[in-house]
This record gives sequence, structure tokens and C-alpha cells, in this order.
Amino acid sequence: MTLPLRPELVGLEPYGAPQLEVRARLNVNENPYSPPPAVADAIATAVRKAAEGLNRYPDRDFTALRADLAKYLATESHVDFLEVRNIWAANGSNEVMLHLHQAFGGPGRTVLSFAPTYSMYPEYARDSLTEFVTLPRNEDFSLDIPAAVAAIAERKPTLVIVASPNNPTGTALPLDDVRQLADAAQAVPGGCVLVIDEAYGEFRRRGVPSAASILPEYPNLAISRTMSKAFALAGGRLGYLAAHEPVVDALRVVRLPYHLSAVTQATARAALAHSRVLQAQVDEIRAERDETVTWLQDQGYTVADTDANFALFGPFGDRVKVFEGLLERGVLIRVVGPEGWLRVSIGTPAEMALFRAALLEVTA
Ligand code: PMP
Repeated sequence: MTLPLRPELVGLEPYGAPQLEVRARLNVNENPYSPPPAVADAIATAVRKAAEGLNRYPDRDFTALRADLAKYLATESHVDFLEVRNIWAANGSNEVMLHLHQAFGGPGRTVLSFAPTYSMYPEYARDSLTEFVTLPRNEDFSLDIPAAVAAIAERKPTLVIVASPNNPTGTALPLDDVRQLADAAQAVPGGCVLVIDEAYGEFRRRGVPSAASILPEYPNLAISRTMSKAFALAGGRLGYLAAHEPVVDALRVVRLPYHLSAVTQATARAALAHSRVLQAQVDEIRAERDETVTWLQDQGYTVADTDANFALFGPFGDRVKVFEGLLERGVLIRVVGPEGWLRVSIGTPAEMALFRAALLEVTA
């Protein structure tokens, strides 16, 4: 039988990293800590209550969840601007990104990003029939702002997407760079939305601001966040976005009705109520990250400057061989980024001890 598959999808494999049962799973930037028992209990109680109403569709506008998210993000990024109308959410920030493309991309339109970056970005573009264009990052993985500003003026994208901290490099975008990109986007005739993907925002080092702090100044700026990382809720699937009301209203048009289940809404709200406890785990991961970076540097590796819960390090003549050697020792990391580099997610102190011992063995 011949399937009428879209030609550009023929032969493609679904995106996804290996899900293996190993001693140290350090390949998809998950939070290594389970939700603490108090949080798991609160989620179970909230879901039990939601279960009683599952005969009805969930709150389509998830107003209570948006209020909780607005309050959390306002505190976390020191902004007093956020209300329910400024918040959007979906099943992971992956779906938030798809909504952005459905609303602002499409045939004849262009999305601009900066390589190397998150490997799903070209897929959102493909699935929304948007042209995907990348500019190379500088050698230290920062953005070449004059080149970016020129490309925005020349290509007139309707979307510009920058991950900050960037995956897989860990690079955070300085606020002044965000401003210059937002100004360039504002000058595009017909409009252009600048999306700062802060999936790893909570892991940024002290003194590194969130782009949310300048949201009031820019009606064309959108900040994407997720509960997958800092909230240890990758399995709960909740991503969200903060922007001016017209951006949120556009996303409301393209979402499927009732896209956020009552179970998801209850889970996310219960976790948000415990953000302080969960932040303590984030602080532990940040400390472990800094120690891992120092150790790798002491071993003579180059480590990309990182504000995330992972580190990109190298160079390796044969990175696949190192990856495989680590895997044989029960340590799963990721072959990603430019040739010669490897990415390790930050795990618990015990997992990182395994990683260090295995790396020493493999490279002995
Ligand atoms: N953005 C970036 C930069 C990511 O690395 C990821 C996940 N690895 C996501 C977005 C999507 O995360 P989620 O859908 O779980 O929110």
C-alpha cells in the first residue's frame, strides 16, 4: 500500500534520545531528583480531587493555573507586570513552540535561529510549513549580534527564536543582546515575534537576569518556560509562555480545545505551590554543575560557559567512542553539538561521581 505521506517526511525518524535503564541517565537534561514526598503527596491529592470531575471537560482557559504561573514567574524573574492575560501554557514548551509557529509562522514565512541550538526548532518549522534559517553562533557560542540584526532586516522573519540558556551549549543571552534583537524584530514591516526559550532559566548563575525582566518594554517579546526541568516535572508535561496580551490571544486561536487536561492542570498547580522546596533542589544542581565544570577544566577539557543544568565539553578526536565507553560503564550522556563535543546533564552527586570515574577510565 502506498501512503500519501508528505514528501518532506519520507524516510524521517521520530525525534528522541535513547531511554535506557542505566545507572546514570545524563542525556536529556532531566532533573535527577524525584519530586520530594510532600510534593508527590500534594500532586496525588490534587489529582484525586480532579478525578471526581473527569466526566466534564477541563477549564479551557486554565485560569487558575495561569494565575499561579504568573505569580511564580513574577517572583522568579522580578517583574511586576504579569497577569493571567500575559500567560499561556501547553503540554510542554514543545507544544507552546508549536502554537507560536502555527500562529506566527506558515507558508511563505521564515523563522530565524542560531546554531548550534535545540534540535526540535527545525521540526516545529517543518510541521508548520515555515522556512527555517539559522545563523552560526560565535566560537564561544555567543550570538553575533550585528550579523543577527542584519539578517533580521534582510530576511524579515516573522519569528526569531533564541534559547537562553542555549541547548546544547548552556550559553545565556545578555539582556543588551535581547534588546538589540527585539529592536531589530520590531523594525520588521508586518511584525516579528522574538521568542526567548528559557527552558533552563532557573539554573542561570547569580546575577544573570531573565529576559522576562524587560518584557514590559517589548510588545513583540515572548518568554517560553517549562516545568520539565526546575520543577522536576518532565513527566507532567507543562510548558508556559509570558508575553503581552495580543501574543497570548493569537496562541489561544490555534490551540486545540481543552488541550490541557484537568489532571495536568491539577498536577502543575500542586507543584507550583511547592516551588520553594523545589528551588532547593535547583540550587543543589547549580552547585553540582559548577563543580562538574571545574573538574572537567582541571582535566584539561574546554567547557562551554554554562547557565543550564548541563555542560558541553571537549574536544574529543572520537567522541562516539567516548560516549560508548561511558555507556558500557552505565553512564548515558549525549553526542550533540559541534563535532568533537559531548554534553552531560547534571545529575546527583553520586551520578556525577560515576560519570567522573567512567570518563577517567575511558580516556586513560
Ligand atoms: N526548549 C529547550 C531549549 C529544551 O532543551 C527543551 C527540552 N529538552 C524544550 C524546550 C522542551 O521541553 P518541554 O517540552 O519538556 O517543556
